[in-house]
Amino acid sequence: MAAPASRRREQPSRGRSWPLIFVAILAVHSLAIYLFTRGFLLTRTELDLHSHRDDRTGVSPGCSSWPPPAVDRLVIVVLDALRFDFVAPSTFFEEKQPWMDKLQVLQKLAADEKKSARIFKALADPPTTSLQRLKALTTGGLPTFIDVGNSFGAPAIVEDNIMHQLAKNGKRVVMMGDDTWTQLYPEHFNKSFPYPSFNVKDLDTVDNGVIEHLLPSLRENDWDVLIAHFLGVDHAGHIFGVDSTPMIQKLEQYNQILEDVIDTLKSLSTPGGPHENTLLLVMGDHGQTLNGDHGGGTAEEVETSLFAWSPKTPPIAVLAVLGEDSCNFDLHGNEVCVSTMQQLDFAVTVSALLGIPFPFGSIGRVNPELYALSAGTWDNQKMDIKAYQESAGARIIPKLSFAFTLVTIRAASLLSNSYILTEGRVANFLLSTSCIAGVWHSATKGNFSIEEFVFLLLNICTRYGIEFGMSKQIAGPTATKDHPSTRGS
Ligand SMILES: [Zn+2]
Repeated sequence: MAAPASRRREQPSRGRSWPLIFVAILAVHSLAIYLFTRGFLLTRTELDLHSHRDDRTGVSPGCSSWPPPAVDRLVIVVLDALRFDFVAPSTFFEEKQPWMDKLQVLQKLAADEKKSARIFKALADPPTTSLQRLKALTTGGLPTFIDVGNSFGAPAIVEDNIMHQLAKNGKRVVMMGDDTWTQLYPEHFNKSFPYPSFNVKDLDTVDNGVIEHLLPSLRENDWDVLIAHFLGVDHAGHIFGVDSTPMIQKLEQYNQILEDVIDTLKSLSTPGGPHENTLLLVMGDHGQTLNGDHGGGTAEEVETSLFAWSPKTPPIAVLAVLGEDSCNFDLHGNEVCVSTMQQLDFAVTVSALLGIPFPFGSIGRVNPELYALSAGTWDNQKMDIKAYQESAGARIIPKLSFAFTLVTIRAASLLSNSYILTEGRVANFLLSTSCIAGVWHSATKGNFSIEEFVFLLLNICTRYGIEFGMSKQIAGPTATKDHPSTRGS
């Protein structure tokens, strides 16, 4: 008697619950769409707050908030889509490839002038597209996918950035090359020579424009920061790929240009000369795959290079700060050491070098190795060799406290900082967790379903797939061979 009664009672309630289920599904869908639009394409809120020269946080009274300038002038040569293996000697890689060892002038300097020249492997954060990288390099922040959509109509940057700080602190900036710079910073340059960047089939217009203005500008005294952005290697990659004659020709052309730049700087770096305390940076904004693609998070795309050289030789003490990340002999039997840095640290390191406030939203740290390469950092501290030898080891750090309070000697992590990649991990973790909860719940109720279990397995596979893909970012095809340091032996 009891069973039919309960069935009679159940039926009407089941009928009444259908609208409720529909409302619940609708609510879940609406929530999903809301989260998708708010979260998946991470719309980053840009703050229009700016750092100021008189900001004093955590600084003892009487101390200047920001470090004094370590360099008087800075030359930044951006070679778009510069792969790490275009710069580091081929002996650092498993196999020598036709495109390696073309930028001989940089390798030679890194070998001959260890105290004042250094090759860095610079790790960019995805998305590895020029606009996002330029934004990240100047703001010290992390761009997101929503920025990718802005590539085609680059809006001026509202966030605090190096260009803003330079202009505000009376530093004069001249720019030549890729016109993305003038789109991002329409009012920040004292002089600019922009060239259109969108015709990828055109390998030479931008480069020739830069070449026309670069050497004459180096002899001028009307700037403090010079930015020259070449595009040929990026375009050669897109059209012909990395293993191609046009790519090799471009690299050889760049080698010649860089040689001229370095000769010019050297000749003007005598005491009292206009480049007595200038720092040269030759860097990529991102890497590229062998097919010339970029935008993603593979090792070939995120690994680019940064070469730093100061015509003025810093004291021997600098070698204590320079890490021994990876030293190896080049083709000529000379030792070359390569350090690793996060591209994220570029903005604050350059700010520290030039003595301007760090961009407000920057989350990077001063890179001690890059900072130490500028002779001026040592002059500021009146640091003589004897004092160094006495202070030896870690005790050098307090002497350079203003610079190194931000600093840890090694980059804490070689993993990417990208929100996008981390977001993927977090989403997958949450999905796995809810799957496990679902399987557990149904198992304890006794109605274990195979579908749920299969879904959980799939989810675990995806999760490990993502982890594996992300680990390849570091240990990818362009990662250096494992060379023990040869210094001291
Ligand atoms: Zn490109």
